[in-house]
Amino acid sequence: MLLIPCPWCGPRDEAEFRYGGQAGVAYPGDPAALTDEEWARYLFFRDNPEGPFRERWHHAAGCRRWFALTRDTATDEILGGGDPTPGGDPTPGGDPASADASVPGGGR
Ligand SMILES: [Zn+2]
Repeated sequence: MLLIPCPWCGPRDEAEFRYGGQAGVAYPGDPAALTDEEWARYLFFRDNPEGPFRERWHHAAGCRRWFALTRDTATDEILGGGDPTPGGDPTPGGDPASADASVPGGGR
């Protein structure tokens, strides 16, 4: 069982949360200008590392807020606590600072 540190509620059982995928995937600035391949890359391609991974979580059964944290995908160890930064924000734009701006979807 994973204890996830919500920045507002503290450590809670993982059953209270919904996984939101990779953090820091910026919405394309001009989606209409993308090729089909670029759009598909933005929609479907995400990093899948074995090790530290920055990801978004939604405290669905608690405060209902989004946040980002860093988790080791091999051990499930939480390496960075819940962080109420734009990296956890699911709205368009996400966290462009942590994404590769040269290719929509972070270039993965
Ligand atoms: Zn919470």
